[in-house]
Amino acid sequence: MKICLYNSKTRQKDDFEPINRNKVGMYVCGPTVYDRAHIGNARPVIVFDVLFRLLQHIYGKEYVTYVRNITDIDDKIIMRARETGRSIKSITKETISWYNEDMRSLGALPPSHQPRATNYVPEMIKMIEKLIDSGNAYSIKSGEVFFSVSSFPSYGQLANRSLTEMQPGARIEVDENKKNSLDFILWKPSDQMTLGWKSPWGKGRPGWHIECSAMSLELLGDTFDIHGGGIDLLFPHHENELAQSCCVNGLNTYANFWMHNGFLQVEGKKMSKSLGNFLTVKDLFDKEVPGEVIRMVLMSSHYRQPLDWSEALVYNTKETLLRWRNIIKGCSAGAVAKSVLAALCDDLNFPLAISELHKLAANGDIEAFLGSAQLLGLLQPDMGDWAQQVNVSPEASEKIERLIGARDQARKEKNFTRSDFLRKSLEQCGVMIMDTPSRTNWNCSSEFDLEKLKRIY
Ligand code: AMP
Ligand code: ZN
Repeated sequence: MKICLYNSKTRQKDDFEPINRNKVGMYVCGPTVYDRAHIGNARPVIVFDVLFRLLQHIYGKEYVTYVRNITDIDDKIIMRARETGRSIKSITKETISWYNEDMRSLGALPPSHQPRATNYVPEMIKMIEKLIDSGNAYSIKSGEVFFSVSSFPSYGQLANRSLTEMQPGARIEVDENKKNSLDFILWKPSDQMTLGWKSPWGKGRPGWHIECSAMSLELLGDTFDIHGGGIDLLFPHHENELAQSCCVNGLNTYANFWMHNGFLQVEGKKMSKSLGNFLTVKDLFDKEVPGEVIRMVLMSSHYRQPLDWSEALVYNTKETLLRWRNIIKGCSAGAVAKSVLAALCDDLNFPLAISELHKLAANGDIEAFLGSAQLLGLLQPDMGDWAQQVNVSPEASEKIERLIGARDQARKEKNFTRSDFLRKSLEQCGVMIMDTPSRTNWNCSSEFDLEKLKRIY
């Protein structure tokens, strides 16, 4: 089946054809490691994890290379080290291990490579030297090197902005030494206190954008298939990466597809510490929201659309997954259903894929249902502990079985008032029931209420 993907570069859905079918390459900008990942940071991880699984499904596991870097050189990290008196190394080491642990708990596959910027500084220096030689960058006395935006005529094309529209703003530093206010930093001097490397321009450290250009070049080559990240990265980060990489490789092309996920907000508002609605993935685990539930919530809207995280959405998703966990008991995964595959191949249409899963479950096609859910990284065998049945006494279990039997009988007799009454009564005491073609499964939630159960007749 053909994949088509919305390409930020062409601003339309394009058919996806890899440059080389035996070496499909995807690069996604990873975290800046100074603090716990928040739930917004988890969104690109889940979106591109599903794309990684889909590419592996279509082209074969061994033919797909997924690179998700770690930005472990950044002003925010240096600031955190100053504030806390801790070393940069210990902050980044701890944050990376939290990050990997959290993302694993969301059911994300580890990427093929997880390069750290600190391991690629010589490659970055080499790129910067090339940019200076080709007249695309200039160094100044203070030890800074800037990329010269006016030397790259198609600058602004990716983000679809003209030079006059692009004014320095978020993530563009204002610096009076620049020749053009849009020129961006490639190398900056480090003082004695901060992380620094020897370079032709003195002791210093790379700028953020050149980090990704160097790591993608080393691990995926001059040009590759897909470059992803959140929509906030489109400008200036991705525009700058593109400019640098094109000037170094001389090919006037870099990634074929640029993909951007929309932003996540919480209860209708931008997530912020001051509004008190800031949620880390760990906060959610501490509130006993299972990783699998978080994952499915992150797939509840189209990846390019904004996503509104809410308690109601978490609750409903948890109910759905509990039901699904019950209908798959004792079942093994079958082949992926065409309907789910088609939904994913159409620019990762998660809402459609999930509604197709509901259809498969309703039709009792449980093997196809499970195989398809697993392509989305849902219902993985090692992620279901949270949905384990709450143990109830043999007496309670016997009564539940008896009531379910009575409900089945009422259904056979088409006495739906009685069968609905029994199902609702059971649900009110925390017993969820799930019909499958061959039998009715049940599960007690943590709200199981024995006294209420005793009163049902
Ligand atoms: P950062 O660590 O800030 O560089 O961000 C890591 C990734 O998370 C980037 O791909 C960002 O675009 C993405 N990201 C940050 N905040 C959000 C959000 N609220 N919703 C969706 N993606 C986000
Ligand atoms: Zn990047």
